[in-house]
Amino acid sequence: MDQPDLFSIGLEEESVSKDAARIEELRREIERHSRLYYAEDAPEISDAAFDSLVRELQELEKVHPELVVPSSPTQRVGGFVGEQFVPVNHAVRMYSLDNAMDLEELDAWLARTRSSLELEPHYMCELKIDGSSIALTYKDGELIRAATRGDGTTGEDVTANIRTVRDVPLRLQIPLPGEVEVRGEVYMPKASFLRLNNEAIEEGRAPFANPRNAAAGSLRQKDPIFTAKRDLATFIYSAADTALLSVDTQDAFLARLQEAGFHVNPSIALCRSAQEVHDFCEKAIESRDELAYEIDGVVVKVNDFALQRQLGFTAKAPRWAIAFKFPPEEKTSKLRAIVVQVGRTGVLTPVAEFDPVVIAGSTVARATLHNLDEVRRKDVRVGDTIVVRKAGDVIPEIVGHIPALRQVDSAVWTMPEVCPSCGSVVYREGDEVAFRCVSIDCPAQAQERLIFWASRGAMDIDGMGEEIVSRLLEQGLLTDVADYYSLDEETLAALSMGRTNIKGEPIVLGNTVARKLVKAIEESKSRSLARVLFGLGIRHVGKTMAEQIVAVFPSLARLKEATSEEISAIDGVGPAIAASVGHFFSIEDNNEVIARLAACGVTVAQEPTAPSREQTLSGLTFVLTGSLVRSGLSRDEAGARLKELGAKVSGSVSAKTSFVVAGEVPGSKYDKAVALGIPILDEEAYLRIIETGEAPKGEEE
Ligand code: NAD
Repeated sequence: MDQPDLFSIGLEEESVSKDAARIEELRREIERHSRLYYAEDAPEISDAAFDSLVRELQELEKVHPELVVPSSPTQRVGGFVGEQFVPVNHAVRMYSLDNAMDLEELDAWLARTRSSLELEPHYMCELKIDGSSIALTYKDGELIRAATRGDGTTGEDVTANIRTVRDVPLRLQIPLPGEVEVRGEVYMPKASFLRLNNEAIEEGRAPFANPRNAAAGSLRQKDPIFTAKRDLATFIYSAADTALLSVDTQDAFLARLQEAGFHVNPSIALCRSAQEVHDFCEKAIESRDELAYEIDGVVVKVNDFALQRQLGFTAKAPRWAIAFKFPPEEKTSKLRAIVVQVGRTGVLTPVAEFDPVVIAGSTVARATLHNLDEVRRKDVRVGDTIVVRKAGDVIPEIVGHIPALRQVDSAVWTMPEVCPSCGSVVYREGDEVAFRCVSIDCPAQAQERLIFWASRGAMDIDGMGEEIVSRLLEQGLLTDVADYYSLDEETLAALSMGRTNIKGEPIVLGNTVARKLVKAIEESKSRSLARVLFGLGIRHVGKTMAEQIVAVFPSLARLKEATSEEISAIDGVGPAIAASVGHFFSIEDNNEVIARLAACGVTVAQEPTAPSREQTLSGLTFVLTGSLVRSGLSRDEAGARLKELGAKVSGSVSAKTSFVVAGEVPGSKYDKAVALGIPILDEEAYLRIIETGEAPKGEEE
């Protein structure tokens, strides 16, 4: 046998130590990204990039098995247990899944499985839902606990939060005695994700990177009230111990889950060959855009539970299942322009306009570049060949450019010095990333403010969308939010839409739409003070903040007089918000608009509570739903009576709610109260409280 010479031994040692260093570096970097992803729901890199780091580590560990340690990210379920939750020990571990990055890898797994079992098993193909894992425990048919996957051994108790997810049955529809733990995925539908992110951007918060992080973040809220607002849903697909459901196969198990009342994904197929598995995967790729929720692959499982037991688990994942991951969709295009949009608060946002490309089934031609720093970081220039991706497969994102294809005369992009809408000089405050136009007369901001006032979360003027607002602005019928209330049916009906019909006649808004709009404008007058304050679009004053402020200052006149110390003393309000509110009221034009709103009958004050009676209900929070037909009291009146006794009246149910008063035809607040186990009072009980000033006994904590 040839002896290796000393020189080659030296080279080998050098390469081992280089690999060991790289392994360490990769582990550190993977841990850092896992923390950002699982603990903070704010990944810095794409899943594809993360997976490729893990792949590199796996390859190196394969070459150097002596360097594999149990703490390596390749040997553990990636996850995190937050300190704000009670830890839950998983009696049966929650595993992750091994990945197949392409059909070739999927075939390798199918071949391995076939050869281990010495037969061709049936496979259950399911969509891989891009959400967050959840374990739901039922005792004698009642939901008693919900836990996240965490690190696979210990999860987080999120029972109160899960109770707010509407499709999770609180009680099973078939008798299952003892404790049964089912598992599945909590996800956020695409439409809700977009809405949530739009709201976040409007309110100046960081948007979620993708629906999966949004679902995980929403599930791990400290207060279930926030989870309830997030519109989460579930698909259930496994159990800690399937034996308890007396079935032998995954397909029979899924049917049983459905009978029990769980939401089971309908896109499944029992496949009898590798070809059928391939066909399912291809169909899933084609149909993914049509689904209302995100999927990031297909999970292929050996259908027979006895065969699953035979194959067993690795440290991290079952051997009897594999996740076939969809390739991330990236396309190249030509960057034609970087235009600047002016938002409601004057922030200038650069937006890339490029040749239309079809990515993951939809045509994309624009993508936000967020701010100047981002344009610099990505170094994109007009004329560049750019790489476009759908981040989280929903929002188009510019990944970067292809350097070799850059034109020699390309110029570095800079932020315009003046606002593209009104021409006033833009400025950047302190170390803020955003450039702003601070002109009060900027038409672009005016338009955004008008649209915002009419939007659903604010004054909810149904039908008043961007097109009508911009027409009204153009024709001088609207300059500020108070002008909405001077619009009449005749003027609106005659509003020119700037287009002509096939006969060449100008198109006008017409009577039907005008009538509806006038009705919607009228209805908006009675929106709550918190919505009015939110609708005014004061910087940093989001919906929740507005509610908190009006609870302390029940009129805009009172808020105007408040000192910044008084405002910043409100729970959750800092000096920046107080300064922003103060600045808003220091502008005479704004006060003039508020005076006109008041004159039109828009809510500018809410009933102050007169503490003439003994404050026997202080410390208790009530929520009212349905109509109080016996007393004929409106909900506002009924709430005012409770406030007179020192109670807090809230618009939404949370774990902190003491009682929910339910009249006839109660709304979703009733369901929420049931879900959270909040005591519910009928009108009679309510009237007794008002009469005696005493809360029902034994339920006051
Ligand atoms: P995974 O999401 O790739 O797959 C496992 C999970 O799939 C299971 O735990 C289960 O919750 C889910 N699943 C969905 N539908 C299923 C079905 N029908 N049957 C069974 N399971 C189903 O693995 P993971 O360990 O949860 O997360 C790892 C992934 O997270 C990586 O692939 C990576 O892309 C991503 N990640 C990204 C970053 C980043 O920085 N971008 C960081 C960490 C992790």
